[in-house]
Amino acid sequence: MILFSDVNKWYGDFHALADINAEVRQGEVVVVCGPSGSGKSTLIRTVNRLEDIQSGQLMFDGRDVHAKMSHVELNRLRSRIGFVFQSFNLFPHMSAIDNVMFSPMRLRGLSKAEAREKAEALLARVGLAAKAAHFPAQLSGGQQQRVAIARALAMEPPAMLFDEPTSALDPEMVGEVLQVMRSLAHDGMTMMCVTHEMNFAREVADRVWFMDAGRILETADPQRFFSAPQHPRAQRFLSDLR
Ligand code: ATP
Ligand code: MG
Repeated sequence: MILFSDVNKWYGDFHALADINAEVRQGEVVVVCGPSGSGKSTLIRTVNRLEDIQSGQLMFDGRDVHAKMSHVELNRLRSRIGFVFQSFNLFPHMSAIDNVMFSPMRLRGLSKAEAREKAEALLARVGLAAKAAHFPAQLSGGQQQRVAIARALAMEPPAMLFDEPTSALDPEMVGEVLQVMRSLAHDGMTMMCVTHEMNFAREVADRVWFMDAGRILETADPQRFFSAPQHPRAQRFLSDLR
């Protein structure tokens, strides 16, 4: 579904991604972890071309993401890749349901009635049926992030990317967002998640990718990664967490 082949990226002289070869398969949940500055956000942002790459190839659902394409094609591609950030990025002047209805109406040509029906179902799925008319400022951080997930799902993306979706949340709200992610994983969504929630990684991930200094140093199933990490840098990272 997402295939990195010899991907390299530089910011000026700084080698931010080095020889990335990795794959997220259909239906798989990959958790990307590693120390601050190791390139996790850079990596995930190359998938929908928020960051460009200088060499290599990145395929998403059979398309070469970094091939030459028009703005229209790029927007169409991006609309098929659900992306949830640390900050919730909701439209502040729109209610929760209007946030979820916006893209399907604008980009997928759904009628207002169709979009509303779909948005109601998605808000129910993230546990927010009762908050449809609330504006972002009237919602907690955890609720806003769940609306952001519903909004991404409204485009029926074949895969979802998460970049530290719970890091900006008060601790008591982390669980409700992880629960939504867990249920998505359970329903078979292909997911690439940057997160420091190692319990989530342990319970939900099919694979863990450990990054340091722009490289993926280890990929392993979580059972093995957490009990017997192979790379010394991964061993140190995990022991620092404890
Ligand atoms: P964190 O856990 O703190 O979010 P990260 O693993 O997501 O870290 P990145 O944000 O991908 O790390 O950054 C990787 C490296 O690239 C860092 O050294 C960072 O300073 C550098 N970097 C990121 N964005 C830019 C940029 N726009 N220009 C130059 N350097 C950048
Ligand atoms: Mg980051």
